[in-house]
Amino acid sequence: MRWPPRRYQCPKCRWDFAVRKKRCCPGCGTLLLIASDNPTDAELTEWKSFWMWEPVKERWDYIRDWEEHKRQAIEQHAQWWRRALVKAEKKSSPPTRWIQ
Ligand SMILES: [Zn+2]
Repeated sequence: MRWPPRRYQCPKCRWDFAVRKKRCCPGCGTLLLIASDNPTDAELTEWKSFWMWEPVKERWDYIRDWEEHKRQAIEQHAQWWRRALVKAEKKSSPPTRWIQ
């Protein structure tokens, strides 16, 4: 099976690349992260702002402040989770008491 390498284009200087040795654009040095880079949370916190490849949207997302981004993501996740719980509660029958 042929698997052509994905090509990325730097959001800043439009440098077109398929692979790069460092995590930044070979043209302008902008930090460009893709999932396979597996950056650690500590690294992301240190860099604070960078471009991150969004495979679903097929475009670069600019993260202005990683801490802030993380906080929002957690909040969104918590909201989603709360909604799921409320739904589950509505669906389930009223609590039954065990007779001993
Ligand atoms: Zn660039």
